[in-house]
Amino acid sequence: MNDQQLLQYSRHLLLPEIDMHGQQAWLDASVLILGLGGLGSPVALYLASAGVGKLILVDDDSVELSNLQRQVIHTTETIGEPKAESAAVQIARINPSTEVEVRVERFSGETMDVAVAAVDLVVDCTDNLGTRHALNRACYNAKVPLVSGAAIRFDGQITVYDPRDEASPCYRCLYPEGAELELTCSTSGVFAPLVGMVGTVQAAEALKLLANIGEPLVGRLLMVDALRMDWRTMKLKADPKCPVCGDAHE
Ligand SMILES: [Zn+2]
Repeated sequence: MNDQQLLQYSRHLLLPEIDMHGQQAWLDASVLILGLGGLGSPVALYLASAGVGKLILVDDDSVELSNLQRQVIHTTETIGEPKAESAAVQIARINPSTEVEVRVERFSGETMDVAVAAVDLVVDCTDNLGTRHALNRACYNAKVPLVSGAAIRFDGQITVYDPRDEASPCYRCLYPEGAELELTCSTSGVFAPLVGMVGTVQAAEALKLLANIGEPLVGRLLMVDALRMDWRTMKLKADPKCPVCGDAHE
């Protein structure tokens, strides 16, 4: 770390749990963020400001006026531009030393598998259930931890699936595939600060996992009801019959 980095990250270096070791882990890390909307905005902003070395931003959508209510990485100036590019502009303003790879595409199949296998961690910020299942499978196969978040109306959820931990459930253990009822913010609505709350927790879990500090939300689902501001944690168990990770739990 050079003098400028020692100053820039000094408030993290003051924390004994993080110190040089944790900060260096972040500087060396590469993280894939799938979805640069309400959840992806705070995730990308905090991972960049905290000094994560490389961010791969994946989103095939463009910025619309109705996004600005909650997708705080985008601005009126980038309406009409791809969200991944708009996010990269803002990241460069906050931390120009963060390397950013912009991918304006809908991720699936081998493309997703190859990209996931090349990073240290994935943050799921999509609102598409099919993509969530594909991403879960790719992360499990590549043994890459997956930080998952969801937010709708006033309700949010966060958990971590860590395929390196034999006791960890995966997304498929908890949610069956097919015949799913998809709720989206465009039809159901979402409270603006809720996505900030959920996304910020996702960023915190991602940084903890990368620096290997504290206890990650593996096997626990953190739920928030923002109307009552009630936070609860529910224990999650792996499904031994899970078609994705069942072999690990025999
Ligand atoms: Zn599973």
